[in-house]
Amino acid sequence: MTDRIYYTEPSCRSFQGSITRTGEHNGQPMVVLDRTAFYPTSGGQPFDTGRLGSTSVLDTIDEGDDIIHVVSAPMPVGVAVQGEIDWTRRFDHMQQHTGQHVLSAAFDRLFENRTTSFHMGVEVSTIDLAREVGASDLERAVDEANRVVWEDREVSVRFVSADEAARLPLRKEPVREGTLRLVEIKDFDLSACGGTHVHRTGAIGMIAVTNVERFRGGARVTFVCGARALRMFRHYRDAVTGAVRVLSVLPHELPGAIERAQLESRDLRKTVSRLQGLLAEHEAARMLVATPVGEPRIVVEALDGWDAAGLKAIASALAAQGRVVAALVSVGDPTAVVIARSQDVAIDAAKTLRTLLDRFGGRGGGRPDLAQGAGLIGKVDDILAAARETLTSG
Ligand SMILES: [Zn+2]
Repeated sequence: MTDRIYYTEPSCRSFQGSITRTGEHNGQPMVVLDRTAFYPTSGGQPFDTGRLGSTSVLDTIDEGDDIIHVVSAPMPVGVAVQGEIDWTRRFDHMQQHTGQHVLSAAFDRLFENRTTSFHMGVEVSTIDLAREVGASDLERAVDEANRVVWEDREVSVRFVSADEAARLPLRKEPVREGTLRLVEIKDFDLSACGGTHVHRTGAIGMIAVTNVERFRGGARVTFVCGARALRMFRHYRDAVTGAVRVLSVLPHELPGAIERAQLESRDLRKTVSRLQGLLAEHEAARMLVATPVGEPRIVVEALDGWDAAGLKAIASALAAQGRVVAALVSVGDPTAVVIARSQDVAIDAAKTLRTLLDRFGGRGGGRPDLAQGAGLIGKVDDILAAARETLTSG
């Protein structure tokens, strides 16, 4: 049975232990020690990493009696080792976990809104509350939690029997039986918890809520504490500074400015699309005038400055005139091509396109009356000549 140093000395980051068992865990070497300060994943708090001697600890798992250390290389049984916890990672977990107790207690004490679960992620953590929470209640709870942080209250750990625990005002019913480990924030919160915590609430630094959403009839509150709060502030500051520079407004004017820009761009898109339609009809009329009379009239032309949608609009406008087949090619490499024909013309646009793709490469497809392709490789004049030849012979 592993002696859990972190239960009584949560700030222990370096310790001596000896290897009592070795083996494999999911194909990776693992060791069990007689005592360890490595915290295993449990109660919402992720595992510790670090080193045992010169070997890396990659994962720490609670197996009930024993704690398994998944290590980077096999180690011999019976030897004494020096354990070193990755303290940056662990201290971050302690800030988040103690911060969670304070935040949960604030919701509980102010609004009797209980925390039903806690998850600590890599970037942010969440608590799930039994009931929904309004915007002003949220801010009150966050203010209350930070007041307790800044009062730098003592955080202590003690062990009690289940009977003793039953007589204590615990924030939530303990799920374990037998001896319970209680974490107390002086005059504010008392909870059964096996996690590692900072010694005083001041070490949490700050508790900031980044998001609240409805979740299973209650609320999911996303938050960051300590160094994570500072990191997130920097992200937000950089994002806001960048946006403010681009839009030339003050930070608080950003949402309105973005909304205005979106509306403006939507109106412009509408205008552009209307003008493109008019121009496409104009181009179609111009081409038709320049096309020799035939049966059907065959329009084959290269166009500069039009994208595939524009080519399609012009080709469709040409086809709408009746007794017309059009093959329009964009100037550029690789090349786009659109083939359209009037309903009263028997030529198959898709077949014509396939003939061109077979010769010049690219991809595309369509229907007998309208087909488009892209990625053709070749001189525009050669593609035009091939299109004219195919349409004339078809
Ligand atoms: Zn806890």
